[in-house]
Amino acid sequence: DIKKVNESYFGSYSSFGIHREMISDKVRTDSYRQAILENPSLMKGAVVMDIGCGTGILSLFAAQAGASRVIAVEASEKMAAVATHIAKDNDFWWDRPQSEGNINNAGKMEVVQGMVEELGESMQIQPHSVDVLVSEWMGYCLLYESMLSSVLFARDQWLKPGGAILPDTATMFVAGFGRGGTSLPFWENVYGFNMSCVGREVVRDAAGIPIVDVVDDHDLVTDSVVLQHDEVDFTTSVELEPKLGDSTSNSTELRSTSTWCYGIVLWFDAGFTSRFCKEKPVVLSTSPYTPKTHWSQTIITFREPIALALGNLGADGSAAVGTDACPARRIHLRVSIARGAVHRSIDISMETAGV
Ligand code: SAH
Repeated sequence: DIKKVNESYFGSYSSFGIHREMISDKVRTDSYRQAILENPSLMKGAVVMDIGCGTGILSLFAAQAGASRVIAVEASEKMAAVATHIAKDNDFWWDRPQSEGNINNAGKMEVVQGMVEELGESMQIQPHSVDVLVSEWMGYCLLYESMLSSVLFARDQWLKPGGAILPDTATMFVAGFGRGGTSLPFWENVYGFNMSCVGREVVRDAAGIPIVDVVDDHDLVTDSVVLQHDEVDFTTSVELEPKLGDSTSNSTELRSTSTWCYGIVLWFDAGFTSRFCKEKPVVLSTSPYTPKTHWSQTIITFREPIALALGNLGADGSAAVGTDACPARRIHLRVSIARGAVHRSIDISMETAGV
């Protein structure tokens, strides 16, 4: 039942550990901080709404950036009380008199406890009167957590026509990973013992299941491709090409003509683009190429690895494409990623073929 689901969802945010994890993710928090503090033409004098304020960190940045009013909305009772306490302790509470020597940060922030979908009259704010919506709504694999729909709801209800949303874009990427991205190398040599039977079992059991894990860019064996999307899901067909350089980066002796692709890795970038962030656009990336975030990446292992041709192999026509005898020139991938029906779920389906 939905009410129970919501209670446990918001209940889980009452644990300070989660908030500490998010705040300590410097890539994440600094991206928001830069987007908010380094775009004065957007923030100065603006009415800002922070969807799911948690500790209130993004609202505090907004108040610091010179917003005229910051409405911090938080469903969890405990976190709403905490955000209120923190705002007061830092002299950002809306009814505080301006304190001496603290001229920039007095009297701006208010906290409203409740789901953003259920904000009532009490809030004393007109529909379509917010200049800037800010929210950190992104989940694992972007859509694991259905908070995006709450942000879109708030946009339709409260944002001024032409108002800003931070971030304003989300892009999802996919690439193929090789053996190094699996557990196989780990189990192959454990203090000198061969435990690769475990590695094989782990890889077999992982097939088809999305797993949050860190992937090193060195373990990618294809290029990366952007997944197309509409507002709340990504459904697309893409071709993954063998990573250029893989066939050339090894010395001539070591150069092989094929490599195995064991599965795909998914990640997202959130963009604070120049559309709204004119002075300082920011990209928050959770890619394998950039410093790691608490989102890591999401991997899905294939049932069978696919052999990818690195050089100019002539197919002999007798074997299935993607096998050792007949490596594929590329991987055809159809992937569909949608937010799940309840909070904290995601639906991912995938079809692959070597071609
Ligand atoms: N903005 C904070 C916290 C992000 S976590 C930060 O950047 O650190 C997301 C927060 O949104 C959680 O505290 C959760 O309780 C809250 N939340 C999720 N859905 C919500 C909704 N529909 N209305 C109000 N708050 C919501």
